[in-house]
Amino acid sequence: MADELTTPKHCPGFEANKGLKVFSCKCPNCGHANEIFSDEFDKPRKCSNCGTQIDFTKCVLDV
Ligand SMILES: [Zn+2]
Repeated sequence: MADELTTPKHCPGFEANKGLKVFSCKCPNCGHANEIFSDEFDKPRKCSNCGTQIDFTKCVLDV
């Protein structure tokens, strides 16, 4: 649940997500899939599992 501290979630699945796309980014270090919202690409994100900074070029659209 440490992910809750760094992810700005208001109402998951509700209006906060309008127009946002969710990307699944695999950690280059441990392979953990981190969910990144499309409005978070301008912020540094770290893997919620091992703390390695996520390389956004590895993100794929999670549909
Ligand atoms: Zn990791």
